[in-house]
Amino acid sequence: MKIIMLGAPGAGKGTQAKRIAAKYGIPHISTGDIFRANLKNETELGKKAKEYMDQGLLVPDELTLELVMDRFAQDDCKNGYVLDGFPRTIPQAEALTKALADKQDAVDFAINVDVPDEAIVSRMSGRRACLNCGGTYHVEFNPTKTEGICDACGGKLVLREDDKPETVLKRLNVYHEQTQPLIDYYSEQGILKEVDGTLDMEDVFGAIITILEA
Ligand code: AMP
Repeated sequence: MKIIMLGAPGAGKGTQAKRIAAKYGIPHISTGDIFRANLKNETELGKKAKEYMDQGLLVPDELTLELVMDRFAQDDCKNGYVLDGFPRTIPQAEALTKALADKQDAVDFAINVDVPDEAIVSRMSGRRACLNCGGTYHVEFNPTKTEGICDACGGKLVLREDDKPETVLKRLNVYHEQTQPLIDYYSEQGILKEVDGTLDMEDVFGAIITILEA
């Protein structure tokens, strides 16, 4: 099963993607997480990506595609995956469609987690990320057992630079300009599904499962 999660930054698609991955035993591929891991390890890719990420801009397609295609070639991807944060532009989506078509394959579902901009801004300021394992939480909607400490690995939680309000507004603009057109793109391919991302996390997950198992 190959699934794409669509939605604005902060719509909750990462949380849902992780749950889908766990339920169906497929890898969760987050380009944001891969970029952040590279940043942390100070790789060449990380250094190049940082200047864009810190400004709330997208990393250029060429760099992103190289990274994603490498990831797809790994063994654990043979039964599918859930993509979180990729594709984010029409050229990325076209490259993915082509790479899969070359193997007589295609994406099964593009799930749009729909949340209005106003809700996004207030949500993002409560988001906390683990510096160590990349886990994400929310002070109100998905708190950790101990404040400021990651449940999964005990790492320290921070408000990511790109979750700060001024960066969030910029990321929302980038989303509307560059990523929202993907909704039409996948709608035309007949695989777009919509879920209401303002609902409770459990209800959003339930709606997604209903779609995947229909
Ligand atoms: P995310 O955690 O998915 O919100 O990603 C954080 C940042 O990583 C984004 O604001 C971009 O700078 C970069 N990024 C992640 N995925 C992509 C992508 N598919 N294309 C370009 N930039 C990306």
